[in-house]
Amino acid sequence: MPDRNAETLLHESALAAAPYGAFICAADGRFRYVNAAYEQLTGYRAEELIGRRSFDSLHDPAELARRRAELPGVGSWGVGTPGSVSPGSVMAPTRYESEWTYVRRNNTRIPVMLALSPLSPLPAGDPAVAPKPHRADEPVAFDDGARLNPAGYVGIAVEMTRYAQSEARLWYVSHHDGVTRLPNQTLFAERLDLTLTRCRRDGASFTVLLVELNTLRKVRDALGSYAAELVLQIVGERLRSLIAYEGTIASVSGTQFALLVNETGAAADALAAAALARIAEPIDCSGTPVTITASFGSAAYPEDGDDVPTLMRRAHVALSAASGAGGNVVRRFSAALEGQAARRFELETMLREALDRQQLHLVYQPQITLATGRITQVETLLRWRHPERGLISPAEFVPVAEETGLIERIGEWVIRTACRDAGKLLRLTGSLPRVAVNVSPQQFQRQNLLATIESALQDAALDPSYLEVEITEGVLLGDTEQALQTLHALRKLGVDVAVDDFGTGYSSLAYLTRFPLNRLKIDRSFVIRMTTDPQCAALVGAIIAMAHALKLRVTAEGVETEEQAERLRELGCDEVQGFWFARPLNLAALRNLLEPLGHESA
Ligand code: C2E
Ligand code: CA
Ligand code: CA
Repeated sequence: MPDRNAETLLHESALAAAPYGAFICAADGRFRYVNAAYEQLTGYRAEELIGRRSFDSLHDPAELARRRAELPGVGSWGVGTPGSVSPGSVMAPTRYESEWTYVRRNNTRIPVMLALSPLSPLPAGDPAVAPKPHRADEPVAFDDGARLNPAGYVGIAVEMTRYAQSEARLWYVSHHDGVTRLPNQTLFAERLDLTLTRCRRDGASFTVLLVELNTLRKVRDALGSYAAELVLQIVGERLRSLIAYEGTIASVSGTQFALLVNETGAAADALAAAALARIAEPIDCSGTPVTITASFGSAAYPEDGDDVPTLMRRAHVALSAASGAGGNVVRRFSAALEGQAARRFELETMLREALDRQQLHLVYQPQITLATGRITQVETLLRWRHPERGLISPAEFVPVAEETGLIERIGEWVIRTACRDAGKLLRLTGSLPRVAVNVSPQQFQRQNLLATIESALQDAALDPSYLEVEITEGVLLGDTEQALQTLHALRKLGVDVAVDDFGTGYSSLAYLTRFPLNRLKIDRSFVIRMTTDPQCAALVGAIIAMAHALKLRVTAEGVETEEQAERLRELGCDEVQGFWFARPLNLAALRNLLEPLGHESA
């Protein structure tokens, strides 16, 4: 069987080339073979070991005296001869593995991981399978005694420091965040588990705090990923400086941190508030001062949950609520929040199908020019009628659509449908008020908004001057370069631009001059307070005067009484919109309302 010889040679050279110290010893422990790595590890040359010393003679003598019993020594571990097999004295199939100290030839000590496996007893007289352990380059002849009693051990010895270092490195890398060097999600989960076990045992409590850096994406877009990483590192440092030594802080995603603190209740809230303030301190990104806003969500053991998944999920629910509230907010988990989160998730699932199942439609609310009493504009408002749930308010589902990105498809549908309806109305009645469409900030972040509007107008054969887009202050405060370009392009096309809900946002007046706007819509909350609160009336008057100075028209929203309409007229408001004049109408009702007016003006 020539193949067998070839196989044997292959095994031998593989052992010789192995990167770890390897040896074969006879049943009495005497070396029969060592590889080059073993020579290097111990400092002994093969000929100093083979046939001369037993493998345990390299062990630290004191340690050996204490632990000799563990080792498969002579006669105690698997010595047996073929034919004399009896229970208790047969070759143990067990492998041995433990840490030992070697004394090297130069008398230095090194910790090694030693593994030993018994070699099967060989059928006597079959030279083809007899191990011929020797160094590949220096064959060693076997004495007959070894061949007659072939059982022995194969051993591997690995220097512990090398082993430990690579193990430790691997562990470190897989348990820490590469940017902040803080524990990652995996290690956080382990620590949370440990903390939970400890607190269960001791009857103690703790809080999981999740932190989302709300404005980090903006930093990345504006200043690049290097700046964003710097911000993450600095925020990580700031958080670490705030929590006690036993607390844990981890980087759990690109924009989130997780904290494990002993404080609960008001004390945990206070800690989170302090952290918010610390995070908000300006960060110097190579000359550019950057301010970061964050949201905190918390869930405490034991009142909010007594297992890891529940605590994490509930902390996330609280965090979503905090982020939804606009950031710089701390929210504690509550059952009410969980109900909201469940409903939101259900809404999202249903909303994904709403367009395809034709559950969405548009209604139109007229706006009246006070000077003429005429309908010069209508605002398009989205409606969702769900077969089981009935009418769902856009105030509820539009934010969900915005968060999930569904607003892009839905928004495009709104624009196309509004233009098509307007074209139809124009052909039927011969005249048309301007049609205003609400556009979300998310739609502005997409490059194709302008193209969508152009193609919708073209398909409906509608002149751009019939269209107005209503934007919120959010569009003007976000990534403004793209928004500014789109707004200019829209104005160039002939589409009007209005700022919705004016006065409720940041109300930085500077943007009124920077952006190409046509109209301000004063939020309903001012209109409500105006007739009872003289200061509010003065404010509305000031907004109108300022808008006129900037050549902007002003529409008041949510006008419900004649008194409100009268006050607004006195203050010089141009248009009013509200239940006082008309509720949102479907297309047929709008046509009935417009037709007599249309005939008049025709
Ligand atoms: P908005 O743009 O401020 O729309 C005005 C809201 O006030 C509408 O609520 C309208 O029905 C309501 N309203 C009008 N007059 C009165 C009044 O006299 N009294 C009272 N109490 N309310 C009045 P609606 O239709 O529920 O829409 C809510 C919000 O949903 C809108 O606020 C807008 O932010 C959003 N939305 C609606 N349609 C769309 C859309 O097609 N796209 C986007 N992105 N958002 C939309
Ligand atoms: Ca609006
Ligand atoms: Ca509004």
